Amino acid sequence: MNNQSVSHLLPPLPFGENDLEPVISAGTLNFHYNKHHKGYVDNLNKLIEQTGYAGLPLEEIIRKTAQAPEQAAVFNNAAQAWNHAFYWQCIKPDGGGKPTGEIAERIDRELGGYTQFVEAFKSAGATQFGSGWAWLVLNYGELQIIKTANADTPIAHGLTPLLTVDVWEHAYYLDYQNRRPDYLTAFIEHLINWDFVNQRL
Ligand code: MN
Repeated sequence: MNNQSVSHLLPPLPFGENDLEPVISAGTLNFHYNKHHKGYVDNLNKLIEQTGYAGLPLEEIIRKTAQAPEQAAVFNNAAQAWNHAFYWQCIKPDGGGKPTGEIAERIDRELGGYTQFVEAFKSAGATQFGSGWAWLVLNYGELQIIKTANADTPIAHGLTPLLTVDVWEHAYYLDYQNRRPDYLTAFIEHLINWDFVNQRL
């Protein structure tokens, strides 16, 4: 890029390429981060060069383009850049399982308990037809589980994301083929970074 000051950067992964194995292979992580995530960031930078969006924070670009069909390419790449940066923060090696702290109490109180959370989060991911994301969000301060299609993001709808799982095939197909529910189970049992979720509350 010839104007570094307004370029969006690919944030560094918070773990090594092999660190999520065997839940997510180094091959999946490498392609997901270096090709898909990087592609969204690079495309966004190209698309917004010398436009009114250059220099704006990612979240602001997402909000400004969410309701503008003629800006779909900017929205899609900005939202995917945001979603992926968030996804990496939501996972860690040897994560997953039952949460502790405030999020544990709130899941018990607002979602009926951990078992119900697992069921609902898995269902949101498994039933998202085609590409998309499942989320745990705050909706006016209340925990809620939702799913979004393609690049769509809670940021565009005034919701506060706490946790996400990427259910685009590129996130799991090399490791799980068509078994998206198995990827979701492994994600919940072995990857969720509940410390990050607690920090978001
Ligand atoms: Mn992805």
